[in-house]
Amino acid sequence: MDVFQHTDLNIVQLLERIKDLKAENRSLAATCDNLAASEAALEQLFATVNQKLLAAEMLAMELEQVFSSCADASWVVRQDGVVVRANPAMLRFLGRSQEEVVGRRCKDLLEGRLCCQGPCPLTNAHLPQSVCEFDIERQKEGGASEYFLVSTASLITLDGSPGIVAQFKDITPRKQAEAALARLARIDGLTQVANRRTFDETLIREWQRLAREKSPLSLVICDIDCFKKFNDYYGHQAGDECLQQVARALADCGRRPADLVARYGGEEFVILLPQTPLEGALQVAETVRQQVEGLGLKHAASDVKPVVTLSLGVASLIPALDGDGDRLIKAADEALYHAKKTGRNRALAARD
Ligand code: GH3
Ligand code: MG
Ligand code: MG
Repeated sequence: MDVFQHTDLNIVQLLERIKDLKAENRSLAATCDNLAASEAALEQLFATVNQKLLAAEMLAMELEQVFSSCADASWVVRQDGVVVRANPAMLRFLGRSQEEVVGRRCKDLLEGRLCCQGPCPLTNAHLPQSVCEFDIERQKEGGASEYFLVSTASLITLDGSPGIVAQFKDITPRKQAEAALARLARIDGLTQVANRRTFDETLIREWQRLAREKSPLSLVICDIDCFKKFNDYYGHQAGDECLQQVARALADCGRRPADLVARYGGEEFVILLPQTPLEGALQVAETVRQQVEGLGLKHAASDVKPVVTLSLGVASLIPALDGDGDRLIKAADEALYHAKKTGRNRALAARD
């Protein structure tokens, strides 16, 4: 600024002008201060944003690592069924590469009817916090089954549309243990044929089924002759082995798949024969009797023969809808009683 351009002004005016210039100067200084403060604030803001971006990037990397290293197969699927991402375990589960999975429809990738075994969680993907859980079964190459627990949760995918994250947890060992336990609960530990509980349940089921079909249901009760004497003579362990051999012989007597051989208790076994009339049941009983005698298991203490023999009671009826299996058991038991009374080692039918 040229101060001398004002030399024609009088002293008062000059003083006024100096005052104005001072005020302008102060205002400029204040603006400069404000600018410096804004610059510092801006820098602070940039630093915070950068920190947040870094933290977000690190979080994304961490989440990506968690997703990738998760042992359970997982994928994110948009509500329209398009796969957005899949972890390595999911690629192994599908037997496909990343390129073959991401961008394709989930139902084209899950072989067979896998995704139809439960309610489709994609239907509820738009509902916040919608979770879903169900089991699926998959056939392995050799024919064995493997089982997975599918857990899904709804989420918003990166493009802002609703979708789900689904996890497939291998529960095959748990399912196998459950099946083994269920089998143990149905089998007699000593003889490995069905146990009393299985027989009772099967009798109720078959009774109802054949009552509706108006078909005959037959029962054979088999009792080892003089078994107490066998135990006394050969010992309890030999008695156990004898029970096992008799049970095997009963189970081996080739019959129809619906027939059931079970240990009824102690040295008594039952054979339940659905859709079999009395005549057929008597034939089965006679075959079993011959089979066990034919085993030639020594029984020096028997009152009947020097080998292990069976007495058998046979009964048959067409179940009534309002009745239950007790009638059948009672009738077969009575027939067994007569077989015992009339000399043992024989199969007798119930008398009306
Ligand atoms: P009967 O010819 O009249 O049938 O005579 P029995 O001696 O076979 O019949 P009883 O009911 O008098 O005795 C059955 C015996 O079966 C008594 C018991 O010691 C034996 N027993 C029952 N359960 C088992 C078992 O699990 N193992 C062994 N070793 N013996 C058993
Ligand atoms: Mg008995
Ligand atoms: Mg007996």
